[in-house]
Amino acid sequence: MGERRQTTMAGSGLSRSVSYLDTRTYRHSTSDYYSRIQGLRGLMNYGLSCCVNALLQSFSATHELLELLNKWDTDDCGALDKAHNVPLQLQRTLQTMQSQGLQPAPHQDFLRCLDRNNIRLFKQHDADEVFLSILNFIQEQMSDKELAQEIRRLYMVKVEEYLQCLECRFIESATSYLLSLPLPLCEGNNTLEERFRDFFELQELKNMDECFCNRCGEKQPARQGLRLIELPPVVCIHLKRFRSTDGYTKKLHSKVSFPQTIDFNKVLGPEQVSGNFLQSEWQYNLYAVIVHCGSAMSGHYTAYIKHSGDNEWYHADDSRVHKAKWEEVKYTFGGSRGDGTAYMLLYRRIEKEKELECSG
Ligand SMILES: [Zn+2]
Repeated sequence: MGERRQTTMAGSGLSRSVSYLDTRTYRHSTSDYYSRIQGLRGLMNYGLSCCVNALLQSFSATHELLELLNKWDTDDCGALDKAHNVPLQLQRTLQTMQSQGLQPAPHQDFLRCLDRNNIRLFKQHDADEVFLSILNFIQEQMSDKELAQEIRRLYMVKVEEYLQCLECRFIESATSYLLSLPLPLCEGNNTLEERFRDFFELQELKNMDECFCNRCGEKQPARQGLRLIELPPVVCIHLKRFRSTDGYTKKLHSKVSFPQTIDFNKVLGPEQVSGNFLQSEWQYNLYAVIVHCGSAMSGHYTAYIKHSGDNEWYHADDSRVHKAKWEEVKYTFGGSRGDGTAYMLLYRRIEKEKELECSG
C-alpha cells in the first residue's frame, strides 16, 4: 500500500519537475550551455543576473558605445583597482560577447565588479536604476574623461526647465539633462506618442500651487514643465510601470503600444520644443526592448534586440537566444497580466546620409 502510494507520488512529481525543467533549467544552469545566433550570444544567469544580462544585450547592440569604449586605452585606467572598475569590466565583457570565444560566462567579472560597487549579486534589481548607475560609473571611473563625456552625450536628452508667470509673462528657465526619459503611464491603454507628449506638456499652476515670481515679487499663477531642447543619438525611454504608494510597490500592466520607427518632431507641438525651429533629424528606429515579466515583488528580465547585421529581431532570455518576429515583440505592449511587458525602449537616430548610402 505504502509502496503504491509512493509510486503515484513519484509519478506526479516527475511530470511536474519535467515541466519545471523545461522553463527553468537554462536560466539557473551552472553548466556552460548558452546559445549563439548571428553574433548574439546568450548569457548564463549568474547570481540572479537577468537584469544585467538584458542590459548587456542592449549595450552590446549599441555599436556607438562599443566604438567609444574600445578607443579607451585601459593600460592607463586610473587609480581604481581593475576589479572595481565598471567601465573597464564592461569593455572586456562586451569585447568577449562580440568575439567567437567559448567562455560560458564572459560577464562574471563584470557582475562581481558591479557587486563591489554595491549593485549586489543574488538580489533583484530595477533595470532603469542599474542602467543609470552603469552610465554614472562610466562617468566617474573612466580615466579618459573626454571619452566618458562622449559616452554620456550618446544618451543625453537636453531639456529646459521652464517656469512662466501668467501675470507678468516673465520666464525663468534652466537647462538640464536626462539619460533616460521616465514616462509615467496611465491605467488602461497608452501609446508611446501620447505619453511622450504628456511628458513635455506644460502644467498650469493655480491657487494652492502658485509659484513665487521674481519680477512680481509675490506668488502668481504660472505655467511650469519641461521643454525639449535636443535628442541624443540614442534615446532611452523608461516606461514607469512600478508605482509606489503607502510603502507598497505595484506594477502597472497597462498596454503601451510603441512603433518601430518614430519621428519625435511629429509627436511634439511647437510649444513643447525649446527654440523656434523644429529639427529635421529626430527620426528614430527602435533597436532594443528590455522586458520585465512578473510582478513588482518578483520578476525576470529579458531583451529583444534588433540585429544590425540582418535587421531581424532576436529574443535573449539569459542563456537562450532565438530569432523573433516583430509580432512577438508586440506582445510586450502589455495589457494582460502574466505576460512580459516592455520596460525600457532604446531608439537610435536614423542617420540620413547612411540611409542614402544603403539605398544607393
Ligand atoms: Zn510675474
